[in-house]
Amino acid sequence: MSLLRPDDVIDHVTQITPEFLAARGLRGLLLDLDNTLVPYGSYDEVGEMVRWAAELRGAGVRMYLLSNATGRRATFWLNRLGFAGVGMAGKPNPRAYRRALSELNLAPDEVAMVGDQLFTDVLGGNLAGLHTVLVRPLVSNALPHTRAARTLERAVLRRYGHDWSH
Ligand SMILES: [Mg+2]
Repeated sequence: MSLLRPDDVIDHVTQITPEFLAARGLRGLLLDLDNTLVPYGSYDEVGEMVRWAAELRGAGVRMYLLSNATGRRATFWLNRLGFAGVGMAGKPNPRAYRRALSELNLAPDEVAMVGDQLFTDVLGGNLAGLHTVLVRPLVSNALPHTRAARTLERAVLRRYGHDWSH
């Protein structure tokens, strides 16, 4: 069960600040896209997120997008977010996390995986030895397999003392 346990649980990625990272000894972030940085499937511009990313990068934080979305969708957002990354990452396979770490040139314990899903983002991050941050999904997702995963996620989170009602 501990592989599904996030180190931090937050409501929104903008709660991650240089102070938040310094307190945990972190220098880099691997970021999920859908429902973490932007609403699931959305192509609408999100100035708040772009400003937040620019502020962190200005403070020296290394950032990398690690998304399971199509390469085309990931590229659309990479052109707007201002940092590098990949789509079709194959999370939770830890191979993608290790490649991303070498791109950032940081050790696993210096990097947090930030995402909205326990069974991809957090599981893979824990398997790769990263710090893991679970963020509340930006929108609820109507896909049946996602709904089933959310039910399981809520059960796991309750066991860890987090009560999320979606
Ligand atoms: Mg996601």
